[in-house]
Amino acid sequence: MTELTPIIAIDGPAGSGKSSVSKEVARRRGYGFLDTGAGYRALSWHLAQSGVDGTDADAVIHALAAFNLSLGLDPDDRTVTVGGTDVTAVIRTPEVTAGIAAFVQVAEVRAWLNAIYRRLAGESGLGGVVIEGRDITSVVAPDAPVRILMTASPEVRAQRRGIELGADTEEVKQAILARDASDSHVLDLAEADPGVDVVDSTELDFEQTIEAVIAVIDRKLEAHNGR
Ligand code: C5P
Repeated sequence: MTELTPIIAIDGPAGSGKSSVSKEVARRRGYGFLDTGAGYRALSWHLAQSGVDGTDADAVIHALAAFNLSLGLDPDDRTVTVGGTDVTAVIRTPEVTAGIAAFVQVAEVRAWLNAIYRRLAGESGLGGVVIEGRDITSVVAPDAPVRILMTASPEVRAQRRGIELGADTEEVKQAILARDASDSHVLDLAEADPGVDVVDSTELDFEQTIEAVIAVIDRKLEAHNGR
């Protein structure tokens, strides 16, 4: 029987550092890296581009047929294309981010994107793939051998994001709390599923957080492979 690519599933709220940490862990391990938020962002861009109202679920589902998404697994090449157009930069704009909330709860959309994510990870042929997003440990890869929830206090998350964006920490904190609330349907920050390891980076710097995540991966994969 061929061994499936081990999936390292990493969830976490806005500003938890899950993206930069996941990427660096993938680099160090030679694993693939899959940023699932990019798919939601690309769809938001595609809908705006096609003049589709994101709040019209039927129209959004219809638009999926022409949504030709391409996402790579290389942690150092995060190119995202839609129908051959490079949207890597434009999907990070506030307009595109704001458009996501309109359709993010449509079950068909989530199932459609999740099927792509599972296929990409499964076919990668790599030693592992780090999949990062908000519902990865619970919905996309509930059977993954390694499932990690990254957290940090809202204050620390706001501070990190504020420095990254050069913005006022209090304003960033309010934005982060608003995103936590709007993402609460996909991510329960208060309670991790059984079998999910929590890495709280409130008191850790970047390097210590990486080490904590790698320690969980080693422990879980060893237990998994020794089954
Ligand atoms: O991670 P990122 O900030 O790029 O995600 C953008 C948005 O996409 C999130 O705020 C969330 O609403 C949605 N998302 C999601 N499930 C995922 C990844 C992202 O609902 N797995």
